[in-house]
Amino acid sequence: MGKSNKVKRWIKPVVQSMSAYHAPPAEGLVKLDAMENPYNWPEDIKQAWLTELASAEINRYPDAEAEALKEQISSVFSIPQEAQLLLGNGSDEIIQILTLGVAQPGTVIMAPEPSFAMYRMTAQIAGAEFVGVPLKQDDFSLDVDAMLAAIKQYQPAIIFLAWPNNPTGNLFDETAIISVIEAAPGIVVLDEAYHVFAQKSFMPLLEKYENLLVMRTLSKLGLAGLRLGFIAGCPAWLNEFEKLRMPYNIGVLTQRSVAFILQHMDVLNRQASLILSERDELYKELTNFEGIKVWPSDANFLLFKSENSSADIIHLALKERGIMIKNLSTAHPYLQNCLRIAIGTQEENENLLSALKETI
Ligand SMILES: *Cc1c(COP(=O)(O)O)cnc(C)c1O
Repeated sequence: MGKSNKVKRWIKPVVQSMSAYHAPPAEGLVKLDAMENPYNWPEDIKQAWLTELASAEINRYPDAEAEALKEQISSVFSIPQEAQLLLGNGSDEIIQILTLGVAQPGTVIMAPEPSFAMYRMTAQIAGAEFVGVPLKQDDFSLDVDAMLAAIKQYQPAIIFLAWPNNPTGNLFDETAIISVIEAAPGIVVLDEAYHVFAQKSFMPLLEKYENLLVMRTLSKLGLAGLRLGFIAGCPAWLNEFEKLRMPYNIGVLTQRSVAFILQHMDVLNRQASLILSERDELYKELTNFEGIKVWPSDANFLLFKSENSSADIIHLALKERGIMIKNLSTAHPYLQNCLRIAIGTQEENENLLSALKETI
């Protein structure tokens, strides 16, 4: 069935012109496309978690404010005392809440590019203008002069900085970020989705900069299926954004599960350090490949460029060998023939390497 005239008449033109975010089916494939933690929990922890969930009252609405959970998060993640927290159904939802809170005709949302695609997509849906400022092409570092000029020209309400950046994997220079925060007329969101791997944070600077917000997610830490993100910052901002949050956005099972697993952070931290040593191993192997340029990474993924064959061919060949990675070739002009691999288990990474050897 084609688009009826009614659909054409009522759905916003910007929505009609977009394509939905597409996560390709990966049934039966080794999934190395979405930066998921490849490890499961030890059996005893899993059993204790299920016992905990058995007493959850799913006939009741969840705790709308989730105050107890927020206190636990504050303490586990060392959120400064003066900072307030807002919880989202994944940090994607927080990006949406922030954007909806500022979007008016003419409002600008800014981020360096290439970066996380949801900043642009969410801004456009909300009816704001998105301005992407190119990173430096050679090493994907922040182009401070370009950022400062763009800030002056466009006066962005929000600047999103993914730190480490996705899909390039690097941490931008801290002094560069500070000059962006100091020049920004509005909010700067440090999106620290990969904090557990980079172990660096702007969280302590919340006390210094009133226009800084620091966002984290439990997804890359190992709970992508649960959907929990949070953002910390000045109450004056977060009280406003709180009004846009749907009251029951964090379900009963999620609240219970997060409260449980936060008592077992040692499990997740151990998994993260395994992932890090696997990443370093895979990085070393890839630098020895001929025809590949691989970038260093502070996250749980690696970006590489195929210098001879096309990324489409490599992507397809790996899929035929049972491995799903992300083809970024059309995501940004700087990413031509680039692909991104999430770090898997040792066995998965070895399979990936042998499949790549057959392909390239
Ligand atoms: C994965 C990712 C997110 C989204 O995380 P969710 O909490 O799962 O919605 C946000 N920002 C960056 C930079 C990411 O890579």
